[in-house]
Amino acid sequence: MKRILITGGAGFLGSHLCDRFIKEGYHVIAMDNLITGDLRNIEHLFKLENFEFYHHDVSKFIHVPGELDYILHFASPASPIDYLKIPIQTLKVGSLGIHNCLGLARVKKARVLIASTSEVYGDPLVHPQTEDYWGNVNPVGPRGVYDEAKRFQEAMTMAYHTYHGVETRIVRIFNTYGPRMRLNDGRVLPAFIGQALRGEDLTIFGDGSQTRSFCYVDDLVEGIYRLLHSDYAQPVNIGNPNEITIADFAEEIIKLTGTDQKVIYKDLPKDDPKQRKPDITRAKEILKWEPKVDRAEGLKTTYAYFKEFSKERLYDEAK
Ligand code: NAD
Ligand code: UDP
Repeated sequence: MKRILITGGAGFLGSHLCDRFIKEGYHVIAMDNLITGDLRNIEHLFKLENFEFYHHDVSKFIHVPGELDYILHFASPASPIDYLKIPIQTLKVGSLGIHNCLGLARVKKARVLIASTSEVYGDPLVHPQTEDYWGNVNPVGPRGVYDEAKRFQEAMTMAYHTYHGVETRIVRIFNTYGPRMRLNDGRVLPAFIGQALRGEDLTIFGDGSQTRSFCYVDDLVEGIYRLLHSDYAQPVNIGNPNEITIADFAEEIIKLTGTDQKVIYKDLPKDDPKQRKPDITRAKEILKWEPKVDRAEGLKTTYAYFKEFSKERLYDEAK
């Protein structure tokens, strides 16, 4: 049985990855300090013999007994309000955390895949974003703590690959959504759905003309699974190229939730990227991957989750 360590395993994406690798017959070790994660995302796995959970901060030395074949480094605050609240931990997990993972991989002869992000492109001047674009990041702006940690993480990963021969993979993830997002994580989809469910007006930051491209979580997990098993060490964008303005997205959520809420406008956060859309030519060619779930379908499933499982969390988590 192959053994895989998933850091950030109690988070939104990490927990879906745990599910996928369990389904594929792996022994899964989830490691998380629960700073933004939630054990409820993985509690259904606790009864399984091939699942273990380590409550640990990966920015500190990592010890895992036994063999390891793969390490997925997904630990990191990921939403703007999270990394603005805990900027130093964000920098640490992207630097010390990946250093620990790569050191562990070297000892165990494991392959490492890191969760990088479209944020390495910053507020992009090239559209859509190809992997060859170096980005437009403000290192001392509020988002710098996340963007630069992720850029450092890519550089450290490449260095271990080049100088120590560690097998590495880099996925640049674009905005992903689905069940198990936290209602209060500040990201636009849970923010809008939470507001609609509570009967509040939807808050559009800026004039709503900025764009994002939303990928359903199952599509992302499939792309990551294929990348891990490929032999490609350069970064690969995984995302859904179907781009939408935030104003149109708010309208879609209002229609989906059937509420008669209105939109209200608030200030655009500093350095908020104006447009974002992945060029997925590389993923198509190398991984034979492209997204399958369209937004209407993905949003329906996600809305059903928030309605059903988040009733008790709707007000608590909005605080
Ligand atoms: P999340 O906040 O739900 O999950 C992150 C998990 O990492 C949480 O469970 C948190 O407790 C854990 N964590 C944070 N710091 C840690 C530390 N020092 N030690 C141990 N655990 C720690 O966020 P997510 O959306 O699931 O994001 C997961 C990864 O994917 C992150 O690395 C993020 O940067 C990346 N990513 C996500 C998106 C997206 O759209 N969701 C986009 C780009 C990149
Ligand atoms: N946004 C918004 N209202 C909200 C939350 C976010 O208009 O209540 C905007 C935000 O300014 C950004 C976009 O939605 O332009 C996506 O924000 P999110 O935090 O989800 O992700 P990111 O900016 O990291 O792509």
